[in-house]
Amino acid sequence: MQLLEVLLELPSSSLDRPFDYLCSDEAKVGVGFRVLIHFGHNPRPLVGFVTKVTPTNLSQKELEETKGYPIAWIDSVIDNECLLKPDLFTLSDALASYYLCPRISLLQAMLPSSLKPARSSLKGPKVAYESYVELLKDDEEGLTPKQIEAVRLLKERKRCKKKEAGSPSIVKALIDKGYLRLYREEINRLQLTEVPRTEPFPLTSAQQAVFEKITSGDKEVYLLQGVTGSGKTEVYLHLSSFYLEQGKTILMLVPEISLTPAMVRYFLSRFGKEVAILHSSLTPAEKYDEYRRIARGEAKVVVGARSAIFAPLDNLGLIILDEEHVESYKQDSAPYYHAREVAILRGRQSGAKVVLGSATPTLETRAKAEAGIYGFCRLNQRVNAKPLPTTSIIDLSRPSNLLPSARMFSKQLVEKIKDRLNKGEQTILLLNRRGYASYSTCGSCGYVFVCPSCGSHLTLHKADMMLKCHHCGYVAPFDGTCPECHSPNIARAGYGTERVCKYLAEFFPSARIARLDSDVSRIKDEAEDITFKMKGGEYDILVGTQMIAKGHDFPLCTLVGVLLADVGLSIPSFRSAESSFSLIAQAVGRAGRGQTLGEAIIQTFNPTNPAITLGAKQDYDAFFRVEMQNRRAGNYPPYSHLANLIIGAAKQEKAIEASGAIKAALRSQNFPGVDCLGPLIPYYELEGGLYRRELLVKFKTAVLIKPYLKKLVETLSGKGGVRLYIDVDPLDY
Ligand code: ADP
Ligand code: ZN
Ligand code: ZN
Repeated sequence: MQLLEVLLELPSSSLDRPFDYLCSDEAKVGVGFRVLIHFGHNPRPLVGFVTKVTPTNLSQKELEETKGYPIAWIDSVIDNECLLKPDLFTLSDALASYYLCPRISLLQAMLPSSLKPARSSLKGPKVAYESYVELLKDDEEGLTPKQIEAVRLLKERKRCKKKEAGSPSIVKALIDKGYLRLYREEINRLQLTEVPRTEPFPLTSAQQAVFEKITSGDKEVYLLQGVTGSGKTEVYLHLSSFYLEQGKTILMLVPEISLTPAMVRYFLSRFGKEVAILHSSLTPAEKYDEYRRIARGEAKVVVGARSAIFAPLDNLGLIILDEEHVESYKQDSAPYYHAREVAILRGRQSGAKVVLGSATPTLETRAKAEAGIYGFCRLNQRVNAKPLPTTSIIDLSRPSNLLPSARMFSKQLVEKIKDRLNKGEQTILLLNRRGYASYSTCGSCGYVFVCPSCGSHLTLHKADMMLKCHHCGYVAPFDGTCPECHSPNIARAGYGTERVCKYLAEFFPSARIARLDSDVSRIKDEAEDITFKMKGGEYDILVGTQMIAKGHDFPLCTLVGVLLADVGLSIPSFRSAESSFSLIAQAVGRAGRGQTLGEAIIQTFNPTNPAITLGAKQDYDAFFRVEMQNRRAGNYPPYSHLANLIIGAAKQEKAIEASGAIKAALRSQNFPGVDCLGPLIPYYELEGGLYRRELLVKFKTAVLIKPYLKKLVETLSGKGGVRLYIDVDPLDY
């Protein structure tokens, strides 16, 4: 008999410990296998994840007596191999204590959907096989002509797919007569596109210095801060070659695969079949195959977005996070992990170097680099000393600056666009708001179109005539009338990318205009297609949200316009200045990467705000100094750590009461250096049917507070209808 320790698939803090189960000696099972079990009075079986196996000579009765509780048998073993490498298993432990969440939810986040320790995975795709036949003998005595045809085909080919050898009856007859042997091989459902090989550029002396500092230095983590167009990618590629040659593997993270086709192509063109791409648009079957290909050691370089940080690579030599400041590295639901933190932990555990690259790193990262905790490498100039774009800031609050017929455009911007169209150069226009109108009201009765499930304003999308909630995803068809009084007199205020495109098409009827935002990129391959065509000069103007600001290299683009630089500043978050700064700096950096000098126009209602003026100049160092003062004054990161406690309950009073009680209990502990703000009513109070309150805990060190919070979730979880989630290192606060 074997005694198993099993984590249940239920991500509840009160169940966050292994439970004992029994299974027979014959069962092939080990750590990292999934099993089906019954738990408590639950009539349906659950999926469990085995964390320990102990063979035992004791009988069930003896075991139960020593343990002091009854021990059940498992129903069955699901897998026939271990799903998770031991180092990832160890990592899940470290992460569970960092993020104060049940271990099972990290294991679930680590594995692709069909391997997840969860019931939903059981319907997921499994290994796909192809049947092959192989020729065993070739005398043609007594065979029919069709059978001879098949034998001759195989004589030439040695083996082929069963379905290619001939009709099923012919193949079957040949197998029965001992001519053919049938066998199966695992196949990969993903067909990688072949990319022609390219030779690496010789590094410039600045790039070479960075390369040497990282490969010969003794830090675990390096910040590579390089202005836009400084050639960070080429450094990543050289570093990758270096560690590959040492027999190590490489993990290359990008914010989003479909928005970084160039990075993917670079890696494919340098490293060919050794590369696996973990693309979010892969089907579950393709993901499953890629995951297994990596786990078997067939891929040595993995390029992917956030969850690729859990790719099952052995012998890691290098982990790179490109654009380390981008928010999408943080998962915005439990277990709320940030790929950067995971990378650093994983790097430390596996002895891999971690490189964080950005033109506009987060303040936390830069502060650690300045303090010498991270190695600090800089590329202060564009490759070939190409100048940064010139920028002008236009004050939107002065009516004389604006185009009377469409007040979202300044006269100057429209003139510049016209000029680029005449010269055959490209323009990028950034507006971090999608849809057509962001605020609709009834002109007759004053009805405001708000989301019934979360209360935020609904945005009208003209392409499909739908009202959409950009917060919770609620959608409803729009028939052009008021739902209250049926008046067709609907007023629309605010504008999004769709409306910008509509005006541009009116002003410049012959211009080729494309739009890129998350409405467009929902369609598979669409974002990739648009960026590819833009790069190839098939569009004159590209309008988009922050998606177009990051990382792209469009050599024909000489003008960047930021239509409303203030969008991000109004978000109530201590990070709003930082994210506005980096969005503007990144957007400006898209201009003039080719032969011609670039130019940027920033339209704003806050022309003296440092996030905007310094973003326009891409002056990171000055912004860093200003913003660090604000962070110090408010005791925000990097001067403190944060944990956001999210308290949810079906009744509003319950949420208020519970959050008050939690705060009082925390206060009474008198932890030094710990501060608790709130309870605050979150921007979106009602979410998923629960009223929410938030407590923001600020702390200098995690030593006392984290164990306390962990206990708190365990004791509270599910009690009295109250839910408590903890977001460690929250981004949007
Ligand atoms: P970043 O990622 O820092 O914004 P890129 O990696 O996109 O910059 O590099 C900008 C441009 O410079 C690209 O077109 C790239 O091909 C080119 N480049 C980079 N390194 C070199 C080099 N060593 N020699 C020649 N061209 C280079
Ligand atoms: Zn009305
Ligand atoms: Zn909503």
